Amino acid sequence: MTSTRPDPTLQSLLNSHPNLSYEGSKGLVMEGTPLADLARQHGTPCWVISADTLRRRARALKDAFEAKNLPVHCHFAVKAQDHQACLTVLAQCGFGADVVSGGELRRALAAGIRAQDIVFSGIGKTDEELELAIHHQIGQINVESVEELHRLDALARKLERRARIAFRVNPDIDAQTHSKITTGRAEDKFGIAHDTVPALYRKTQTDMTGVELIGLAVHLGSQMVTEAPFRRGYERIASLVRTLRADGLHVSDIDCGGGLGIAYRDEKAPPPSMLAEVIAETLGDLNVQLHVEPGRWLAAPSGVLLARVIDVKEAARRFVIIDAGMNELVRPAMYDSWHGILPLHTPEDTTAGDVVDVVGPICESSDIFARQRRLPSLKKGDLVALLDAGAYGTVMSSTYNSRPLAAQIMIDGDRQAVIRRRQTLDELLAQEAVPDWLAHP
Ligand SMILES: *Cc1c(COP(=O)(O)O)cnc(C)c1O
Repeated sequence: MTSTRPDPTLQSLLNSHPNLSYEGSKGLVMEGTPLADLARQHGTPCWVISADTLRRRARALKDAFEAKNLPVHCHFAVKAQDHQACLTVLAQCGFGADVVSGGELRRALAAGIRAQDIVFSGIGKTDEELELAIHHQIGQINVESVEELHRLDALARKLERRARIAFRVNPDIDAQTHSKITTGRAEDKFGIAHDTVPALYRKTQTDMTGVELIGLAVHLGSQMVTEAPFRRGYERIASLVRTLRADGLHVSDIDCGGGLGIAYRDEKAPPPSMLAEVIAETLGDLNVQLHVEPGRWLAAPSGVLLARVIDVKEAARRFVIIDAGMNELVRPAMYDSWHGILPLHTPEDTTAGDVVDVVGPICESSDIFARQRRLPSLKKGDLVALLDAGAYGTVMSSTYNSRPLAAQIMIDGDRQAVIRRRQTLDELLAQEAVPDWLAHP
């Protein structure tokens, strides 16, 4: 978000990113791996994701719930980072998946996540996607509307199955985050209106044979860095559960959604223990199986995007033009988001530097990664890392401006692997066909 608050210093960025450090001639090192080596070996732009960081955060999250003795199943929100290697790492840490499309469902299964550990959310699930979910008997389908409920019930009966479902409730709460990533207000498209839930819940549990309604789900928004919306959202759900139970209805599961934010810049991002605490206080005494669906918190700090300086243009401002663009990382253009930028060489002086705009090569004025940012001086050919690019990065990439999809590297201790090789221009062109009547008039 555009703001006049001062940028964090390079040192405070390093302090808030403990998986990154400068080591003399090796330059910027991520979990033991010098990033400049990777950039030289694999070219730029290129994504790097650390399996160690991912694992450490996965454990920290689970530990926070275990410390409160909460019966929580963790489902990673696949839309934040959908690479099968990352899903495999998280599955090995005991995570299931939260998916929002048939494609993500197939990915999660392909990565070895058990169907029973998969939750399917999303406002526009097609009949085909619902059938896929019913066929695999996944753990839970979060139903977002009365229309979808009837569609799902009919499909399941046709397939002679019973789909396990929860109602995604729209609690009408403002997540106090960027308006493009808030999802729990009445005017947002998500979920079933809070006050219509009891009647629909009764009707579903008494009349519908294609679905087994096990509870409620809520997801308020993303990049939430204050406690209040979580607390208000879960209090609402708790009071709904009490209403439903008083009415003799059965509630065994509550899905608390995702949304926990991180410190991209200088946000006072609360630790997972805050989330555990709020869940314990609001839902802890309901004797239900709890679920959470974090995405960003796990994946964002685990990944960086490496780029090379193409040129430094001296104009009204000094523009550092890098070879990564909004087609790779769209978050700054789409959400006005702030990403830390660090040179890959060890800066001689971490406090000095130039005030520059860091921009991509795309022909769009929104292709800007940093405005008026003080950075150690950068020249043509230098390498940089854009931080916290592990979530909502690769998954939102496009080939806009005919730019092939960038390579993805996973580092894991002293091992490293190309987990997605750079797309070639030939591959990009080969997917297109020019109709015969145009090619041979
Ligand atoms: C996007 C999404 C999440 C994950 O959100 P994060 O902010 O990345 O934690 C979880 N659940 C649902 C339903 C979502 O749409």
